[in-house]
Amino acid sequence: AKAAGRSRIEVFDDALRERALSRLRTESDLRVALDSDQLFLAYQPIIRMQDGSIAGFEALVRWSHPERGTILPGEFIALAEETGLILRLGRWALKEAALQIKDWRQRTGRDLFVSVNVSGRQLMDDDMAAAVAQVLEETGVEPRALKLEITESLLLDDTARCVQMLHDIRKLGVRLCLDDFGTGFSNLSYLHSYPVDTLKIDRSFVRAATDGDRRAEIARIITMLAAALDLEVVAEGVERDAEAAFLRGLHCEYAQGYFFARPMPPEEAERHLLVQAA
Ligand code: C2E
Ligand code: CA
Ligand code: CA
Ligand code: CA
Repeated sequence: AKAAGRSRIEVFDDALRERALSRLRTESDLRVALDSDQLFLAYQPIIRMQDGSIAGFEALVRWSHPERGTILPGEFIALAEETGLILRLGRWALKEAALQIKDWRQRTGRDLFVSVNVSGRQLMDDDMAAAVAQVLEETGVEPRALKLEITESLLLDDTARCVQMLHDIRKLGVRLCLDDFGTGFSNLSYLHSYPVDTLKIDRSFVRAATDGDRRAEIARIITMLAAALDLEVVAEGVERDAEAAFLRGLHCEYAQGYFFARPMPPEEAERHLLVQAA
């Protein structure tokens, strides 16, 4: 091969340069995307286990790239965080989700909520609570229709500051959910000081339920913990009937996952909602 005569350092340099270039391209593409409506939210129903009805939705960002097609958040959220673009993205997502859920609530007359993911970088932003307040004001959505999902690992970095921020947000009437719960090795003694309303059981514990894996016991413990602390509990990543049955056995109130419905563009999510109302 042509590269055979070249030093390993040169080849390594090329690889680094290629990576750096690709990041720069993605970064500038992402700026364009934010300016030109290429981002959209997919909505995944969160189901009431008791009767299968839709209680709300999780909003998941998608990037409709003109050349690369639909790109999932795994490919750009980290970069958005590193470049600070996540602040703009996060505010856009919050407002977009608020407008959508307001519309669905009005048209169905149902007390639906939307759950929006928030990254650590956003929580470290001193203006976060003000940004949430601004979205409430601009959209006129009922605060309780909005939930913010945060991962417990984020809270470990600067606990006191994060907890204060969460209190400020919750004072607005917006609800909070601890995402991927159980994966963060958090100090359980902190849990009572986090002003949260909901625990979301990470999908790894749901999967364990029917794999004969003892980690399924974690799902049981989380539902018991939620009941003891008077918190709501949602299980994520439910893919199989047996997993749903296991969760029902635990009296887990809410669940989401491919078994019930995939994340969908708004028009499709709306059809699900209207069919159910009929
Ligand atoms: P997450 O918050 O844990 O979201 C759940 C992920 O699991 C989503 O992936 C969803 O599509 C996927 N999922 C749902 N049901 C199932 C299932 O039954 N089985 C399996 N295997 N997966 C399922 P997605 O949409 O690719 O999002 C990945 C991550 O990107 C999210 O993880 C979240 O951390 C982040 N993210 C998504 N949207 C946003 C956003 O607007 N802002 C921020 N900061 N992060 C976001
Ligand atoms: Ca989430
Ligand atoms: Ca999650
Ligand atoms: Ca997860």
